[in-house]
Amino acid sequence: METRTLEWDTPMYRLAVAQLDQTAQLMGLQENLWHRLRTPQRAHVVSFPFRRDSYDVVQTVFGYRVQHLTTMGPTKGGIRYDLGVDLGEVTALAMWMSWKCAIMGLPFGGAKGGLRIDPRQFSPAELQRITRRYTSEIIDVIGPDRDIPAPDLGTDEQIMAWIMDTYSQTKGYAVPGVVTGKPLEIGGSLGRKEATGRGVVTCMVEACRDLGLPVEGARVVVQGFGNVGSVSARLAHAAGARVVAVSDVASGIHDPAGLDLPAVDRWVAEHRTVQGFPGAEGVSNADLLTLPCDVLIPAAIQGQIDGDNAAKLRCKLIIEGANGPTDLDADRILAERGILVVPDILANAGGVTVSYFEWVQSLQHFFWSEDEVNARLVQLMTRAFTDVLATARQRGVDLRTAAMIRGVSRIAEAKRRRGIFP
Ligand code: GLU
Repeated sequence: METRTLEWDTPMYRLAVAQLDQTAQLMGLQENLWHRLRTPQRAHVVSFPFRRDSYDVVQTVFGYRVQHLTTMGPTKGGIRYDLGVDLGEVTALAMWMSWKCAIMGLPFGGAKGGLRIDPRQFSPAELQRITRRYTSEIIDVIGPDRDIPAPDLGTDEQIMAWIMDTYSQTKGYAVPGVVTGKPLEIGGSLGRKEATGRGVVTCMVEACRDLGLPVEGARVVVQGFGNVGSVSARLAHAAGARVVAVSDVASGIHDPAGLDLPAVDRWVAEHRTVQGFPGAEGVSNADLLTLPCDVLIPAAIQGQIDGDNAAKLRCKLIIEGANGPTDLDADRILAERGILVVPDILANAGGVTVSYFEWVQSLQHFFWSEDEVNARLVQLMTRAFTDVLATARQRGVDLRTAAMIRGVSRIAEAKRRRGIFP
């Protein structure tokens, strides 16, 4: 295909496009639709001056908001604060959001945004100022009917609150529907914070059932102890699994007998790291991936499982909590080795699913109970998992390809129905 895509060209964008190309070829997708989906419909790049707390220091900051697909409804996706953020990364993530929303049957196209900063180097006051300035830079392209941000790597509910406030101040009235993943007090949803982890564990339970692997006592390794990793570990533990290793950015801890997860949570609350947790051995993030276990949950960042380490993994099942943790070489090797991979666009879709519930509640000013949110999430996740598994069996493909076929088909059908203007 001859599309010139130099603007976006980065390893992550190449991965997202290669996945699309593979799927499009396999399903015989019409060439013009295929072309359309390889590049985002809108991509906003901003740069602005940012004054640090020490008044004389002013930095230039780069920010992005990419809207991949506007066919299905408003666009939806998180905002990340990370030094790796660039146009290609944000575009790949926006594409994955499109497939994710389509697989779950949510009325959104994919989007993603971010700032190229290391948020850990910023004071709370700086984070607030930079968030408000970034919001004002993209204010014309977001909105409850237009594009709805949410948390992602390096952002949280407080950042969402500042985005909501900046947007609302500009409009002159409160607009809770402009972001999801916001605090409860300003219209957030019960269950949103745990939603991605709950979706991950729902997929784990379903996949274990399919493999005939009892969840009770299953050995689980979790890479990443941010929101997704820590909740996945906690809920896997609550479901009866034995969480044998977890890690954070720096490194991990391992106990083959199973970690006492509530004690790990208490340790992290006090020390802000899993390191030094009494009674467990230290393990590097790279070695953690190859520990013997039943279920591996990469829930940190992209690019963790590749052609080099895929042959060394000693798990039966991978549930992708992070976006883009596995590359195409690894997919091939894992399929050959009979290791089942539940792909990110299905496994971590619990977050955006409850974001959808939150958006609906914000628009209606009518709130659901936590049980209602959780029950509907589990129902939608289980249905999506069953559908993707059925497609995989029918077409003799892996779960990632099956999930993409389902997502892309739904989008293709919507595009066909809407036709081309003018
Ligand atoms: N950032 C999350 C994701 O990658 C959630 C997006 C959302 O809730 O809109 O799926």
